[in-house]
Amino acid sequence: MLRERYNSTQVFTLLATSVALLFAIVTLLLAIDQERVLESSDRLQSRTVPEIIRFQRLARNLDLLRQEGERVFSSATSEGRQQALFLTMLVASHPSILEHPQAATAAREAEAFLVETSRLATENPASIAARYPQWQQFSKRLNLQVDDILVEGANLATADLGAVAAAMRLTRYKLMGATVVVGGLLVLLLVLLRRYLLRPLQRIDRALSTLSVDHLAPEFPDTRLAEIHAVEEATKRLHGAMMSNDAVRRELEVLANRDDLTGLMNRRHFMESAKSELRRAQRYDRPIAVAIGDLDSFKNLNDTYGHDGGDVVLRSFARLLAESLRESDLVCRYGGEEFAFLLPESTVEQAQVLLDRFRERCAGHEIWPADGVPVRITLSIGLADASHCPIGIALQQADRALYEAKRQGRNRVVIASDAG
Ligand code: GH3
Ligand code: MG
Ligand code: MG
Repeated sequence: MLRERYNSTQVFTLLATSVALLFAIVTLLLAIDQERVLESSDRLQSRTVPEIIRFQRLARNLDLLRQEGERVFSSATSEGRQQALFLTMLVASHPSILEHPQAATAAREAEAFLVETSRLATENPASIAARYPQWQQFSKRLNLQVDDILVEGANLATADLGAVAAAMRLTRYKLMGATVVVGGLLVLLLVLLRRYLLRPLQRIDRALSTLSVDHLAPEFPDTRLAEIHAVEEATKRLHGAMMSNDAVRRELEVLANRDDLTGLMNRRHFMESAKSELRRAQRYDRPIAVAIGDLDSFKNLNDTYGHDGGDVVLRSFARLLAESLRESDLVCRYGGEEFAFLLPESTVEQAQVLLDRFRERCAGHEIWPADGVPVRITLSIGLADASHCPIGIALQQADRALYEAKRQGRNRVVIASDAG
């Protein structure tokens, strides 16, 4: 099944957008929490703290009222009592008390009670003691009022500080969550990078470093990244091009090493191959022989059947040659109607037997250079031992033996030593 492929721009745009979106969400959430903290601390500064100070002043004044009320009862003289009463009235009408309804009521009632007490004490000083238990009720009520007000002030601060703490706690959780998400995203990114980029690149690197005509075309598992797929395909194409170049090179090599007319090895290639064969044979002290064969009276054949007829004979002779020799023997078209032989693992005697057999076969072989006219062709061969001299010398000796074979009447094999 053909799977959809993505190009790296798409993938990285998607990843970058996701990360940017995530970052924006986290920033927004943190900004909201920070706004809450700022709001709470602003409120604490601008509203709650002055409120607490106001409550403290109110509490202090109520307590002062209570103390001065106490002094109304404890003063031994009427002046002292009047002075305490005056201060009581002054405190009771203080704006901080008046703006708090409950405190104002309590203060007003305490003040009225004290005014009445003072008046009665002027008439009858003994009455003051009788009213003290009642004053204690007022004093207690004022004390409770002071406590309530202080608690109220503390509650205000606690609420604001609680809101700040809650917002900060929320921020901490969100930060932890964001860290986990970003960390997870990073791990995911690394896993994706490894799977879809690094590993395929390593595979391509391995394939390229072992790319050769001796190996099969590289195989790659299906990949999701378009660019990686393109490089893999290019690597396969490169291998294909290497293979076809190699095939062309081999073909050219064959063409360069072959004789056009007969398809036999050409002289240049024969000399190269013969040199290495000779080196091998001489290193291991193995017998090896060379020979030069020349078609007899070929000129006459050409004169009779024309050049094309001569070519037909040359091609037919070359086919016969290729069929008759051993796989390990080398043969080339040495010149016009001359052929050179290299016979590894053969002494000159063994080579003579082999070549003589071929010579006879050739002489009995019918060739049709023109319609309806069969001809037979004979061959003279000069043979030399090549196991102890360079190829050039051995060929010269073979050539001399060939000359001798012609001289002796053609259609024969002559060994170089026999030629003298
Ligand atoms: P001998 O027995 O002494 O070798 O006699 P010969 O006629 O074969 O001797 P010679 O070397 O004088 O003649 C060789 C002829 O081979 C001459 C040349 O025209 C012919 N020849 C050389 N190359 C080719 C070729 O490619 N095609 C054809 N048709 N003839 C060729
Ligand atoms: Mg010749
Ligand atoms: Mg000839």
